[in-house]
Amino acid sequence: MNGTTRWDDEVDLVVAGAGCGGMTAALVGALEGLDVLLCEKSDKVGGTTARAAGTLWIPGNTQNRDAGYPDTKEAAAEYLQALIGDHGLDLRKAYLDSGPAAIDDIVARSDVNFLPCIKHPDYVGLPGAAVTGRAIMPEPFDGRLLGDDFERVRPPLGEFMLLGGMMVGKMDIIHLLNRFKSRISFMHSVKLVLRYFADRLRFSRGTRLVMGNALVGRLFYSLRKRNVPIMFNAPIAELIVEDGAVTGAAFDTPEGRRNIRARNGIVLATGGVAHDPRLWEEFMPKPPTHSLVCDTVQGDGLNVARRAGAVADEDSHLGAGLWQPVSVTPPKKGWSGLFSHLYLDRAKPGLIAVDSTGNRFTNEADSYHHFSQAILDNKAWSPTKPVYLLCSAEFVEKWGLGVIYPETRNLKPFVENGYIRMAPTLAELAARLAIDPAALEATVRRFNEFAVSGVDADFHRGETELNKFNGDPDHAPNPCLGPVEGSAYVALPIWPAESACSAGIKTNADAQVMNGKGEAITGLYACGNDMASMMKGTYPGPGTTLGPAMVFGYRAAMHAKKQRMDNQRAAAV
Ligand SMILES: Cc1cc2nc3c(=O)[nH]c(=O)nc-3n(C[C@H](O)[C@H](O)[C@H](O)COP(=O)(O)OP(=O)(O)OC[C@H]3O[C@@H](n4cnc5c(N)ncnc54)[C@H](O)[C@@H]3O)c2cc1C
Repeated sequence: MNGTTRWDDEVDLVVAGAGCGGMTAALVGALEGLDVLLCEKSDKVGGTTARAAGTLWIPGNTQNRDAGYPDTKEAAAEYLQALIGDHGLDLRKAYLDSGPAAIDDIVARSDVNFLPCIKHPDYVGLPGAAVTGRAIMPEPFDGRLLGDDFERVRPPLGEFMLLGGMMVGKMDIIHLLNRFKSRISFMHSVKLVLRYFADRLRFSRGTRLVMGNALVGRLFYSLRKRNVPIMFNAPIAELIVEDGAVTGAAFDTPEGRRNIRARNGIVLATGGVAHDPRLWEEFMPKPPTHSLVCDTVQGDGLNVARRAGAVADEDSHLGAGLWQPVSVTPPKKGWSGLFSHLYLDRAKPGLIAVDSTGNRFTNEADSYHHFSQAILDNKAWSPTKPVYLLCSAEFVEKWGLGVIYPETRNLKPFVENGYIRMAPTLAELAARLAIDPAALEATVRRFNEFAVSGVDADFHRGETELNKFNGDPDHAPNPCLGPVEGSAYVALPIWPAESACSAGIKTNADAQVMNGKGEAITGLYACGNDMASMMKGTYPGPGTTLGPAMVFGYRAAMHAKKQRMDNQRAAAV
């Protein structure tokens, strides 16, 4: 469209997509005095962010420094240089230079708030990697503050909630497991449950929000306080280009198509390329068989941007998919069908992962991304053959396994609903998995020797800070190595699932979208997973996507504000 566009509405800044990236851009725009409209495809805010653990990777952040765990951007720069090389240096520099201040500014001027993670090691053992001080997490949020709007917050994955709707964070899990061992844990657990039952008298789920849901709740509450209008059920359908600049966008609303003029810019934040099979084929050498991404994320941002002259970043040379290992959960009301094995079971002593040949193929205590990448890189992998987490019934009772909670003694229901396979001997279990029994027995025998010596001669499990963090600190000589043995053997099928994609729209360091000639397209920004990741397909540590989503969402809005001031100054001359 051009020239003769009939506008239905006009604002300063239009943002498409109400996840972390979009809500941040909208909030910062509003804080800077812009007249903002946020348009969301679904009837809820939150997108995949609402499902996330909510950790942000912000090197040099204030929250950890104030807690006594300082980090420096120089160390992070060294780490990223070792991990990514010279790719995307301009974005990286902007991120490291402005990240902590951007977060502090948002915290100071809104209800968004973060807590230090203190210890949360980076995922790759390279110079500059941090053990403490680099990750932050959203402060839990009281969803009751949103009143009726609470139901507009997309729920997390049902598999991550207890009692059919109660969110629990890492500390809550520790208290719940220790509820009969410590008075403090008992009181904490009682308070959690009482609050939850009180919530259910008024709301469809618990209102004590943690992790990604707390971030979404806080952003949404801050937007509401500033009266930022949100148009729901309004997907962006087309960008409107006039004289080479993006001046507005067309949205498909329940009332029909509406053309909204944006005086100072449009921010694309529709969550990335998931659920668009053509884009998967284009960017991922091995397209996902399973996805954890919110189903309304369908590549819309990149598709509309391309039609307006934008290009995808070709520089995702290390592979674009960001992965998590999942098990397929039995049908249950409110469940998504997938459980993400982030850290609760994989690294603990007494469990291994084997492929369809009965062999171990990687270090089970590595990050969820690197573990999943190892599944995909393994020659024995095919989209029809899962790998298996293998342990004893006693391990499950102690640590839990996927959706089976710790302290579960009767595993029969999980065998009957097909979640796990179980047998009294390894040979029988192998037969049920169509794995060579001799190979499986040899694998377990060898691993059990490692458990005694404390040295995993094959994959060095338990040697990195991250491995130790994910293992059992009370277990010696190696916190991640224990024998796989018990009264019965259990196997859980595991698949690599897409949690995000690193490929996306090419931007500059102010999140301005670039055209094929390497020029910024006036009036068009991208952030969140719509923007090609500055990490270039690598996964440095916890918070690899949400950190950049917030910082570049911030930078996009600040740039739009600056453009407005420049234009006003030019008009006044
Ligand atoms: C289980 C799990 C745990 C995770 N934990 C972490 C973590 O701890 N730290 C981390 O950094 N990352 C984590 N991730 C990844 C992270 O959640 C995502 O990368 C991030 O939320 C993407 O944010 P976003 O703003 O780009 O998109 P989203 O949060 O997905 O939001 C996009 C929004 O755009 C809307 N939309 C789509 N199309 C249109 C359209 N045409 N017009 C308007 N709106 C549209 C969608 O409905 C959605 O609301 C996790 C992912 C999963 C699945």
